[in-house]
Amino acid sequence: MAKLYYKFGAMGSSKTASALMCRFNYIQKGINVLLLKSKLDTRSKENEVESRIGLTAPCISFAENESITELYEKANEEEKIKVVIVDECQFCTKKQIEQLREIAEEIPVLCYGLKTNFKGELFEGSKRLLEIADSIQEIKSVCECGKKAIMNGRFVKGLLVTDGNELEIGGDEKYRSLCWSCYKKEQNKAIVYEKILKYLKIFDNMDNAGEWSGDTAIDNIIIHTPHVIYDEEVNNFINDFKSFQTKSPQKVLLIDDNIATLRKISMKDKDFDYMMNLISFTLKLEKSKPGLLKTLIEEGTITKWLKQIKKCVN
Ligand SMILES: [Zn+2]
Repeated sequence: MAKLYYKFGAMGSSKTASALMCRFNYIQKGINVLLLKSKLDTRSKENEVESRIGLTAPCISFAENESITELYEKANEEEKIKVVIVDECQFCTKKQIEQLREIAEEIPVLCYGLKTNFKGELFEGSKRLLEIADSIQEIKSVCECGKKAIMNGRFVKGLLVTDGNELEIGGDEKYRSLCWSCYKKEQNKAIVYEKILKYLKIFDNMDNAGEWSGDTAIDNIIIHTPHVIYDEEVNNFINDFKSFQTKSPQKVLLIDDNIATLRKISMKDKDFDYMMNLISFTLKLEKSKPGLLKTLIEEGTITKWLKQIKKCVN
C-alpha cells in the first residue's frame, strides 16, 4: 500500500546513504524511482545526490517555488514512476510536502531529512511531515560522548552558534550532531568565551590587581589573616568564570598547585577545555593560597592563558 514515509535523523546519521541504498534496491528489481532533492542543499552538485560515504546518484533538483506535482507528472510521462524518494526533505515547503502527500495516495513516497535546525527548531518541511506522514521513523546516530544525538550544533571557529538564519551557509561553519547535555556544554562554553575575552585587554595593562589586607583588630589584638582585596574587574572575572565552573564537568588537571608549576605550563597544544579548566583550578586555589591570582595577573601569566584561549577559537 502506498504511504508517505518520513525518515529523519541528526547530521551524520547516514540518511542520504540510506536514501541511496533504498533507491538502489528498487532499481535492482526493475522499479523506476524518481529521486528528488531541494536546490537549497548545496553540499553536492545540483542534479546529484551525494552521501558522505561517497555514494552518488543522479536526481532532479527543485526550487522552493516549484511544483513537485508537475515534476512528478513530467517524469511519469517519460517512464512510469513507481516510487518517489526525496533527500534533504526538511527544505521542502509546507505546500511541497502536501503535494508529496497527494502523490503518496498512488505510489510510495519516502522522505529523508533532518528534523530540526541548528537552533533545535523544526524545519518547515519536517513539521508538515510530522503532521501528515503515515510512517515516521528515526535514523539514530550517536553523539561524541556515546549518547544518542538529537541536536545539530552549528559551529563557527570551534564555538557553538545559536543565532542566525536557518540556511546561512558561510563556508566556515561546521555541524556536529550532539546529545542534549553536550549541546548545553558547548552553549555554555560559547557564552563564557564571550564574557572572558574582554579581560585580555584589561589584565594586559593591570599593574595592581588588588591590595593586600589582613590585619584585623579585635579587642586591641591584631590578628594577621592575609588576603587580597581584589580590583573590581578581577572580581568580575572571577564571577564570570563561576558560570563555567558550575555548569561544566571539570577535567582533572594533573598538575600540582605550586605557583612555579602553574607559570611553567607550556601553551603548546593546549586546547580550549584545558585552558578553561586551568583558570578554574587557579581560581579555586586562591582560597588556600591568597594572592596567587594577584601575582599571576600582574606578571602576565593570566594574559598568556587568555591569549591561548583566544588562539584555540580563532
Ligand atoms: Zn553527548
